[in-house]
Amino acid sequence: MIDSHCHLDLLASQKDLHRALEKAKAEGLTRIMAPSITPESWQSLQALSEQYKSLLPIDTALGLHPYFLTERSIDNKADVTDASQRMLPDHLHQLEAASATLHPSVKAVGETGIDGHISVPLALQKQVFRAHLTLADRISLPVIIHHRKSHHLLLEGFKQAKYQGVGVIHAFSGNVNVAKEYLERGFYLGIGGTITYERAKKTHETLGFLLEHHFDRLLLETDAPDMPMFGRQGEPNEPCYLPDVVDVICKSYGVARNEVIATTSDNYCRLFGVKTDSHS
Ligand SMILES: [Zn+2]
Repeated sequence: MIDSHCHLDLLASQKDLHRALEKAKAEGLTRIMAPSITPESWQSLQALSEQYKSLLPIDTALGLHPYFLTERSIDNKADVTDASQRMLPDHLHQLEAASATLHPSVKAVGETGIDGHISVPLALQKQVFRAHLTLADRISLPVIIHHRKSHHLLLEGFKQAKYQGVGVIHAFSGNVNVAKEYLERGFYLGIGGTITYERAKKTHETLGFLLEHHFDRLLLETDAPDMPMFGRQGEPNEPCYLPDVVDVICKSYGVARNEVIATTSDNYCRLFGVKTDSHS
């Protein structure tokens, strides 16, 4: 099975990464996508991909996560607007430069997106999101998208950027109608630890719809070290817990484990252009 969203650099700051990857492999993981969050993470993830090549294939992505657009310059909220305006051209310039010569592990642009719940100005987030879409179109890679209270802004961003490509909405938690908007655009939806919680009724409803009508657009993810699985709250999430998500899909929806793993792995490889002989 493939973890389509795991922040390995953040996990490495909390756990022994070698051990975490060994445990993931022992639990049946065959591949991991590590989206990036800041310019610093681009090279460090690419280095991890090389370092662990023989243990577990690691794909990477190039992006500027909305959470971290202003982090390093901001000491207090009053500075947000000015500091973000000072930093933006520099960050976007670095993103353009990094995309000029792609490391072989780079399979996507991201993590990008819009978060309606943070103090980073929305105008800045929209501008950076559009820049990611333009870049993804230009270099023909899919995008990895973060959302929170922002579906309408993301859909508006696609239109404004005239985005022609595809990608994944990670940790999708919208209802069926919102899911359809992305599916019509050819997007995939990432499902993770949220479904291990019974209270996540809306996500369960959408998952049921996906399994019945769009199984070919479903990806699995942990979002480690965030989004702990049910019963594992209070400890960092890890890729080795991805089977918890598979178990819920098997038990709640009556889909065979092999089918969940094979279909979501095929979906991942199709979206990110990964060629592989085996997903077992
Ligand atoms: Zn993420």
